[in-house]
Amino acid sequence: MRVAVMSAPGEVRIEDRPKPRIVEPTDAVLRLAATCICGSDLWPYRGVEALDGPRPMGHEYAGVVEEVGDDVTTVKSGQFVVGSFFASDNTCATCQAGYQSSCEHRQPGAPDGAQAQRMRVPLADGTLVATPGIPDADMVPSLLAASDVLGTGWFAAVAAEVGPGKTVAVVGDGAVGLLGVMAAQQLGAERIIAMSRHEPRQKLALEFGATDIVEERGDEGVARIKDLTDGLGAHSVIEAVGTQESMMQAIRATRPGGHTGYVGVNHGVQLPGEELFFSHVHLHGGPAPVRRFLPDLIDRIWNRQIDPGKVFDVELPLDQAADGYRAMDERRAIKVLLRP
Ligand SMILES: [Zn+2]
Repeated sequence: MRVAVMSAPGEVRIEDRPKPRIVEPTDAVLRLAATCICGSDLWPYRGVEALDGPRPMGHEYAGVVEEVGDDVTTVKSGQFVVGSFFASDNTCATCQAGYQSSCEHRQPGAPDGAQAQRMRVPLADGTLVATPGIPDADMVPSLLAASDVLGTGWFAAVAAEVGPGKTVAVVGDGAVGLLGVMAAQQLGAERIIAMSRHEPRQKLALEFGATDIVEERGDEGVARIKDLTDGLGAHSVIEAVGTQESMMQAIRATRPGGHTGYVGVNHGVQLPGEELFFSHVHLHGGPAPVRRFLPDLIDRIWNRQIDPGKVFDVELPLDQAADGYRAMDERRAIKVLLRP
C-alpha cells in the first residue's frame, strides 16, 4: 500500500510499504476514506523540527474499519470511524477527566502514518468513535476535520472559556484558528475577532461566524483588539500558531481575568514570568484532547449543523502529496485533503 514518507526537510515521496496488520489485540486496521496534511507537518518540512530518519507522515484520519484485534469490543469491521492523533484508553483517571491526549497509556494514534491507504490504530476501543452509519461522500471532509483541526480549535475555545456574551479573539488564520472561530460561534460567543491578513482566510472566518477582522499583528494587533473592547482586551483569546510572537500577542490581547487557550504547538516560546504575574490572565492549552469532543462534533456534523470540511481548499490524490506539502508551505492552500 502507498504511504507518504518525509525523507528530509522539503522532501516527501510516496513509498510502497506492506499493508498494516494487527500487532496488539487492542489494534484496529482502517481503510482510509480521506486524510490530510497538518500545519504541524510543516515544522519538520521546514527543518524547524528534527527528523530522525524517514518518517511516514500524517495523523488525521477517517475511514472504514477493516479488521480488529481480539480484545476490541466497541468498533467492528465495516463501521466508519474517526480517531485522533493520540491513541488513548479512555478509561484511566486522566482520560476520565477529559485529558485523553495525556492518557497514562498514550501512544501515537497513527504509528505508521495516516497519509496512506490503510493504517493501524492502537487502543481502538478508547481511540475510535463510530459514526451512526456510512457517511455521504460530501460529509467525509468534515468528519476528517473533526480528527484534528476541528477538535483542536474546539479545545482552544473551551480552554479559553468561550461562552455566551463573551468577546473572543483568534490569533492564527490556519485551519485550527478558522475552526476556533467556528467553535466560538457554536459555543455562543457574542463577538468573534479573527486576526488575519489573507483575504480568502478572512472570508472563511466571516463565513464561520467572525464578526470583526483585524489585519494588524504583534503589538499593533493587540492595540486594535483593545480599541475594539473598550481598552480591556478580549475575554477569551484562542492562540493557534505556537510562536513567541503569537503567544505574546494572545496573552496581551486578553483582558485581566480573561482566558487564553493555546493550541499552536510551541516552538522556542519563552514566557516572561513578571508580565504573566501582573497580567491576571488564565492560560490553558496543550495538545487537544480531541477524543473528549469527538462524539459531540460527529453529532453536529452528522446533523449538518456545521461544515468544518470547508477548510480543505485543495484536494489531491495521495500520490501527489508532495505538491500538497508545497502548497501548504507556500500558503497557497489553507489545508490539503488527500484521497488515498
Ligand atoms: Zn487513559
